[in-house]
Amino acid sequence: MAQSLSTTLNYEQSYHCPVCRYGQLNPLMLMDAFACSFCRHIFTANLSQQSVCLADTTQSIYWRWTGQRWQPLHHANSELTVAIWILSVGLTVIPTTLIGLIYQIFPPLEDSAGAEFPLLWLVLVFLAHLSITVWILAEFYQIPFYVAWKVRSQA
Ligand SMILES: [Zn+2]
Repeated sequence: MAQSLSTTLNYEQSYHCPVCRYGQLNPLMLMDAFACSFCRHIFTANLSQQSVCLADTTQSIYWRWTGQRWQPLHHANSELTVAIWILSVGLTVIPTTLIGLIYQIFPPLEDSAGAEFPLLWLVLVFLAHLSITVWILAEFYQIPFYVAWKVRSQA
């Protein structure tokens, strides 16, 4: 894998991808943009600020080129970030809390068959909703391990 020796971000060099950390960012002809050879994300470049922005997703994620590596910058849309976190945490907490409350209000009879099923169901609901939450956050932040796994599983 060719590693860039350049200390500045320019359109003559290729750089390792800040998203998947596996592919190479190569300049796109006649555009102020780069594309990754592995995860196929497209990045718009701002050479004066030495930064790139993920262009093909709904959220704007920025990285600054330090000369050696990419440094993540804050999300441009902080309202979307807050909304995603509220949605994600609520998606896990609300269903689990509702089922936990129902279990407390209407506990099963101790000698009845399947009396332990509500607790098992509570754990399953928590784990299922937690996995959805983790998936949403991995998609939102484009976590490198997750992106690489997604690209490899599509091949
Ligand atoms: Zn990539």
